[in-house]
Amino acid sequence: MVIIILIFCAFLLFLTALWLQQSVKRKKKSSGIPQGTILYSDLNVPATPLFSRRHRLTGKPDYILSKQNRCIPVEVKSGKGPYPHQNHILQLAAYCQILEDTSGEFVPEGILVYNNVPYTIPFDPKLRFELESVMKTMRASLRKSSVPRNHDEPGRCHRCSMRRYCTDILIENS
Ligand code: SF4
Repeated sequence: MVIIILIFCAFLLFLTALWLQQSVKRKKKSSGIPQGTILYSDLNVPATPLFSRRHRLTGKPDYILSKQNRCIPVEVKSGKGPYPHQNHILQLAAYCQILEDTSGEFVPEGILVYNNVPYTIPFDPKLRFELESVMKTMRASLRKSSVPRNHDEPGRCHRCSMRRYCTDILIENS
């Protein structure tokens, strides 16, 4: 009798695992996340931030996929086109760099997902150079006592997470 109950429980566990596997596959497909094994996810449960000592960069991509033995960061974004946005590309480039530094493996690309559509962004020499240059500019700005605003878009200030502390904020006309 005990053996029959154990076999029944094992069968139930097997069915549950199968259902979970299928449900993850369906979810990935419907959210535009490309095929690959998910190694890290920051979406359902907050993940531990990754940190690159070499570049003094930290961040949490939405996912890290293992694809053809390579780790690929994936970032899911909202907002209107045209896609992909330059600031999102730089954010993804930072994740590629962090991942390369923490894993010690070459990261060839990252993926941005807009409205369930994936955009592959090569982490090529041009983007690596751009990232280095932006980091240098940001670090130089941090050493200054004040940094002038670099845009005239009230909408950006409206959405900005720093608006509470900013002394140069632009207010939208109502
Ligand atoms: S609120 Fe300040 S920091 Fe934020 S976008 Fe506007 S000017 Fe820049």
